[in-house]
Amino acid sequence: MISLTDYWMGRDEEYPQFLSPQIERNAALTVQLTNALLARFGQGRKVISGWRPAMVNAATPGAAPNSKHLTAQAVDLADPEGDLDHWLMSAAGQQALEDIGLWMEHPAATKGRTHLQTVPPRFGGGRVFYP
Ligand SMILES: [Zn+2]
Repeated sequence: MISLTDYWMGRDEEYPQFLSPQIERNAALTVQLTNALLARFGQGRKVISGWRPAMVNAATPGAAPNSKHLTAQAVDLADPEGDLDHWLMSAAGQQALEDIGLWMEHPAATKGRTHLQTVPPRFGGGRVFYP
């Protein structure tokens, strides 16, 4: 299970001027859906990247300029062995994404971590996309 405190990573206190009620609602949903997914997976995972205010996102190597982390609609979980990614690519994992309402970046683009988001990507109709 992850908590909102895990998700904020202290950035809510460091960058309060970038917070909004919408971002707070988005973060709560991201945490809720991520926990539903981890419950289906059966293991916990640590947050390695949560909400990113603009300057944090700009300083994050490889981060997309329009990253869903900016709006608290995405989370990166530690997945050092790749077994969460592996499960998510299985039929059971894909069904869990569908049931819960999450999308993921393809494991080939997320070595050592899993990127989940609560909104679909701009392109493609599946649950898995390339950033
Ligand atoms: Zn991410």
